[in-house]
Amino acid sequence: MKKITDLQGTFTLNNGVEMPYFGLGVYQSEDGQEVINAVKWALEAGYGHIDTASIYKNEEGVGQGIQESSVPREEVFLVSKVWNSDQGYDSTLKAFDASIKRLGTEYLDLYLVHWPVAGKYKDTWRALEKLYADGRVKSIGVSNFLQHHLENLLKTSEITPMVNQMEFHPYLVQQDLIDFCNENAIQYEAWSPMMQGKIFQMDEFKQLADKYSKTIAQIVLRWDLQKGVVTIPKSSKKERIIANADIFDFELSQEDVAKLDSMHKGKRFGPDPNNFDF
Ligand code: NDP
Repeated sequence: MKKITDLQGTFTLNNGVEMPYFGLGVYQSEDGQEVINAVKWALEAGYGHIDTASIYKNEEGVGQGIQESSVPREEVFLVSKVWNSDQGYDSTLKAFDASIKRLGTEYLDLYLVHWPVAGKYKDTWRALEKLYADGRVKSIGVSNFLQHHLENLLKTSEITPMVNQMEFHPYLVQQDLIDFCNENAIQYEAWSPMMQGKIFQMDEFKQLADKYSKTIAQIVLRWDLQKGVVTIPKSSKKERIIANADIFDFELSQEDVAKLDSMHKGKRFGPDPNNFDF
């Protein structure tokens, strides 16, 4: 397992690209000043990775935040996702063009299939393979793909996804899926790493936070990285954006990593990839 060193640290994807293992999520950050500020604050605090999606309706603000920051575009690992209603081959190519236009960029660092839409995701994937072959995106991946979705995709895909972005926190560890991804060189990535904010109301995490003199957010985000999982906590508040990334001056013991692992109860705060209707 790679050593976790600093906010600019990376995991290496199966195509050799270095992906910063810590990024800013912007789901529910409002387009305009809110998301512009969040992106600027994050980049200026040393984050090198921003995660958006066309459905978040804030790609313009994300692009503006990058432009207004002191960090050059080439130093930002920028991720977006094709939304379900755009899935299919031609429509995905169009959706990609629209996303990069809104983001004010020529390329993406990573483009993801947002959800495994039945009957469509293989065509969507072919479009991502084309974008990758054409050099318009540096890595391609999926999101919300369970093992059976991945197995089905891998039967016909030319390229193995570089990333699988999944709901992941101590109540939803899905270690079998992580193992499957590791065996297939697919980088696991956490969405809602802090249970969309609900983790802060749970006493069982407070003890661990006190033990390390850290916040609950810092404990779970450090756990993500020690497990080899990329993480993209969301905040639109400057102090939290800075504090959430302050996780490189301590290390969780193996026992405490295992303790967090053992809290798994299959609890989702977001939709189930086996049963969604959007
Ligand atoms: P998170 O688990 O990151 O939690 C975000 C919530 O926690 C917000 O309400 C935020 O509020 C609050 N928060 C953040 N830091 C702190 C702190 N230190 N103390 C107290 N509260 C805090 O949830 P998300 O669902 O946003 O997931 C993260 C990212 O993952 C998304 O932004 C998105 O980029 C991605 N994602 C991907 C999905 C997919 O299907 N691929 C689905 C869902 C998310 P505030 O902003 O006010 O600080």
